[in-house]
Amino acid sequence: MSIYLSSRLRTLTPYVPGEQPVIPGLIKLNTNENPFAPSEKALEEARRSVRPFNLYSDPDSGELNRSIASLLGLKENNIISTNGSDEILNFCFMAFCDDDHPAIFPDITYGFYKVFAQINGVPYKEIPLKDDWSIDPGDYIGSGGTVFIANPNAPTGKVLELEDIKRIIEGNKGNMVIIDEAYIDFGGESAVSLIDTYDNLIVTRTFSKSRSMAGARLGFGAANENIINDLDTVRFSTNPYNVNSFTQALGIAVLNDEEYTRSNISKIIETRDRTVKELRKLGFTAPDSYTNFIFAGHPLIDGAVLYEKLREKGILVRHFGTERIKDFNRISVGTDDQMDILLNELTKILAEEK
Ligand code: PMP
Repeated sequence: MSIYLSSRLRTLTPYVPGEQPVIPGLIKLNTNENPFAPSEKALEEARRSVRPFNLYSDPDSGELNRSIASLLGLKENNIISTNGSDEILNFCFMAFCDDDHPAIFPDITYGFYKVFAQINGVPYKEIPLKDDWSIDPGDYIGSGGTVFIANPNAPTGKVLELEDIKRIIEGNKGNMVIIDEAYIDFGGESAVSLIDTYDNLIVTRTFSKSRSMAGARLGFGAANENIINDLDTVRFSTNPYNVNSFTQALGIAVLNDEEYTRSNISKIIETRDRTVKELRKLGFTAPDSYTNFIFAGHPLIDGAVLYEKLREKGILVRHFGTERIKDFNRISVGTDDQMDILLNELTKILAEEK
C-alpha cells in the first residue's frame, strides 16, 4: 500500500475474482462461464453491424435496450445496460444505499455485495441463511435498508419462490429491493413480471452466463422509469460510454439468435441434473441446483483438499474459505465430456481417501 492511498480505501478488502488462467487442456469450472461460445451467426452479425471503433459507443445503448425490453415484455425506458451486472449492482449501492439505508443481504451470497458496500462507505447487515442454506423471507420484512438478494443464490444454487420475493418487496415499502437474477435462466421464476406493480424493485441480469458473453461484459437493470433515471444519473456521473460498441452489437446479435441460447440452456440443465445425480451416487451432498453450477461437499474429504486435488488433475473449481461453506466446492457446469472427466477423477480421489 502506498502512502498516497486515500484513507477511505485503507481498510478495504477487494473482491477476489475466480482465477482466469489460460492453460491448454485445463477444465475450467470455477467462474460459472458458459462452456459454449456465442454462435457464429451472432458473432458475424455483430462484426457487420458494429459502430466504427473511432467513434464513441452509443451512451444510451438505445438499440440494445430496445432488444432487451422486447425480450422481457418491457419498454426501453425500463432498461439500463451496464458493463457486466457487477456495474449495475455497484450503481444500485451508489444510488440507493447510505447511512439511513444500509445494505441488507444474506451472510452467504455473492461476495461482491460486501465489497460494494465498503467501497461506497455504506453500512451493511448480513442476515444468516437458515441451516439448510435457504433464505427466510420473514427475516427481510421491514428490514429498514436496501435489500440485495441473488435469486437463485450463489454459491448455494438455491432458489426463492416468486411469492416469497413478492413478500419481501411488499415488506419493504419505502426501501429498494434488488433481485440479482444472474442465474435465472437456469431455474426459478423471474421477478421481471413485478416491475410494473412495484416502484421499489430492481431486477439485475447478466449476459455472462446463459448468453455466453462473460468476456464481453454486459449486464442490465430492469425497473420502473423513475428508478432507471436515478441509475442513469449515477451512470452519466461515472462512465457514460459504459458499454463498448462491440459489446452492444454482440448483445443485440445474441438476442437475435435466442434459439441458440435456449438450446444451450437446455443442454446445461440436462448436464447439471445428470451430474448432481452422479455426485450423489459418489456420496456427495449437493442441494438441487437452479443455476449453472453445483455446490457439493463430501463427508470423506475436506473441501480445500478436494479443490487442490482436482487442481493437480487440471480441473479448476471454486472453493470459499468461509466457515459455513468451507466443506463445499462450487463446480460450474461444463460440457458433458468435461463433467465425465470430473466424475472420473472424483471417483479416483475418493478411492484413494478410503
Ligand atoms: N451476481 C452474481 C450472483 C454472480 O455470481 C455474478 C458473477 N460472478 C454476478 C452477479 C456478476 O456477473 P457479471 O458482472 O459477469 O455480469
